[in-house]
Amino acid sequence: MSRQAGVDAPERLAEHVWRVALPCRTLPPFDHVNTYLIVSDGVAAVVDPGSSDPASLDLLGERLDALEVRLVKAVLLTHTHPDHVAGLAGVLAAYDRPSLYVHAAEAGRLQDVPAPILLDDDRVLTVGGALVRALHTPGHSPGHLSFLVDAGRDGGNDGGGTALVGDLIAGKGSTWVGYPEGDVAAYLASLTRLRSLRPERLGPGHGAPVAAADAKLAQAAEHRLERERAVLAALADGVERLDALRGRIYPELPEASHELAERSLLAHLLKLMHEMKVVHLGEDPSGPYALRR
Ligand SMILES: [Zn+2]
Repeated sequence: MSRQAGVDAPERLAEHVWRVALPCRTLPPFDHVNTYLIVSDGVAAVVDPGSSDPASLDLLGERLDALEVRLVKAVLLTHTHPDHVAGLAGVLAAYDRPSLYVHAAEAGRLQDVPAPILLDDDRVLTVGGALVRALHTPGHSPGHLSFLVDAGRDGGNDGGGTALVGDLIAGKGSTWVGYPEGDVAAYLASLTRLRSLRPERLGPGHGAPVAAADAKLAQAAEHRLERERAVLAALADGVERLDALRGRIYPELPEASHELAERSLLAHLLKLMHEMKVVHLGEDPSGPYALRR
């Protein structure tokens, strides 16, 4: 996305969906988290209040005022990584006790907040006249949810609507799926599921909104499969240790990112081991690994 776009202006994605980009510390290349406002008839839900900076909370308040919100009814979390929940306590305190919604597999990481309402796949919530369908989309994290807004009367089986996808998709580049929380097979299945619902646009947790939703979801899956092919090719060439795989697959990477890259490769190796395509020789996570012959 363009530098700091959206920090200065709210952005309307759809009739009931607005993006507010809040500066925060997160994984490169991003410097912000997208907090989404689902607003209808003066009622709002806040999705992923990810910045605890008082200026960010003020900005959210300004946006809610500008949209003539009189009731913040709910806070919805795609997942509970710090860059998606840092502003949670601030938002809960600033408004009249909105209900907090999160998937059970993510709730344990929340601290100092009232007991959340646990969401699972296919729960439908209303925000004013807007319909919000929760979809369990694990892969980046185990209890990751996406929120499909206004996808039609039955909640989305006919296509359309806006999918707020957290870290399932990044507005630019690819999202991180790494050991131990990441699960590449689950990630691919989540992409397939969301594609089958044919949302019209995507609101990612970081970066610009995506208009060509299907192409972006397909590209995210292809990127992951391409990475998997690179891992298999390296193993076929006799590269057997995690750091050597990283050096071959990400040759230009600065040292500060080595660990994240290796955890991402480890997630690929685990998928391939489950599929009986790769064997792990011994106990050391750093290798050696080999193709199963
Ligand atoms: Zn995350």
